[in-house]
Amino acid sequence: MSITIMKFGGTSVGNLDRIKKAAKIVKSKILKEKQKIIVVVSAMSGVTNNLVKSFNKISYDIDNPEYDVILSTGEQYSSGVMSTVLNSVGIRSRSLQGWQVPILTDNNHSKARINSINSEQIKKLFKSFDALVVAGFQGISRENRITTLGRGGSDTTAVALAIATKSNCCEIFTDVEGIFSSDPRIVKKAKKIKKITYEEILEMSSAGSKVLHPRSVELAMKYGIKIHVRSSFTSKTGTMVVKEEKKLEKEIVTGISSSDYEANISLKGIPDKPGIAGNIFSLLSRANINVDMIVQNITDDGKYASLTFTVPVEDCSRSVKVLKESKIKFKQIKFDKNICKVSIVGVGMKSNVGVAKTMFETLAKKNINIQVISTSEIKISVLINSKEKKVALNALHNAYNLHR
Ligand code: ADP
Ligand code: ASP
Ligand code: MG
Repeated sequence: MSITIMKFGGTSVGNLDRIKKAAKIVKSKILKEKQKIIVVVSAMSGVTNNLVKSFNKISYDIDNPEYDVILSTGEQYSSGVMSTVLNSVGIRSRSLQGWQVPILTDNNHSKARINSINSEQIKKLFKSFDALVVAGFQGISRENRITTLGRGGSDTTAVALAIATKSNCCEIFTDVEGIFSSDPRIVKKAKKIKKITYEEILEMSSAGSKVLHPRSVELAMKYGIKIHVRSSFTSKTGTMVVKEEKKLEKEIVTGISSSDYEANISLKGIPDKPGIAGNIFSLLSRANINVDMIVQNITDDGKYASLTFTVPVEDCSRSVKVLKESKIKFKQIKFDKNICKVSIVGVGMKSNVGVAKTMFETLAKKNINIQVISTSEIKISVLINSKEKKVALNALHNAYNLHR
């Protein structure tokens, strides 16, 4: 049995007309290619945001299991609608919620990771159905509670199902024609990329390009799943995510990403003793808070250190509380949510010099102050004031000639 995964994001199922268009794409694949299809759907666009707002009227504790119960309803609704529409155009289809598949996750509510997927049920159901519409973004924990996979997590549901069912390809249908050199909504000159490596898109999505959920790329890279990111509004070929050796032309910089979802926390007057940074970060890690960029400075007399780091914006208040209530000594703690991380990514960076120089000079020419810098083999990230995001992205896009 040949199975293809087709995932439709929020805009692609944003209203009944769009769901009908998506159903047409699924039907044509079934008829032309004699495939069995797992359709993974997101919630209709805006729905999950509204569910978050309604939860926040009662609580901000996203570790509360009920947060996931509320948030997962968006996908439950769209999976039911998509399956009904498929039935109405003559496709034998039924919907499945995460727990019905089942998609087993850990119990980190609001950012659960998939542990395993049992595909027996899916295989059985394909004897009676040609399409199974799976609600994205959700799973079930060992404690028998509904979990969600983190915002944008339906991409991860799609890739995980591709792995579990050994399917040919995972097609991610979205509201842009593929992966671009930068977010086409911010950089008008951004260009569609034909082929991108797993490593590059992993760095770009971890750095905030929400076109793919980072965990979905991580899984696809580990298991060699082919991903095709394309538009649900045209039939044009989109972007193929490939292994590095399949990409002959290795640009120095392939893409530029930005993330507004981070907050900057600064601790001043920390006694400069071995093990302090370890204590701070193990405290945050025990609280399940993910720390990203880190800089440490020592005072001239060598007695005190200051530490600046970034955390996801939704974890900012909790991080401050955890640190204030801990035994860790410091004189002052400050946080800033008006920051933006801008990153340049490219596999060609490994073998070229002067990439960082161009980045810093370009930002300096625009009078943009860099607060924190971090680098990896194929990425350089800087933290700037969020007001300067658009200018920074466009200037860097020009500086690396990405429109060519
Ligand atoms: P979906 O609901 O289909 O999952 P998302 O909103 O999660 O869609 O992701 C698609 C969006 O990602 C695009 O509308 C675009 O604004 C944004 N985006 C950010 N960076 C990029 C990029 N480099 N290439 C393409 N899209 C990007
Ligand atoms: N509906 C969820 C969100 O908005 C998951 C997804 O769309 O992938 O984050
Ligand atoms: Mg998405």
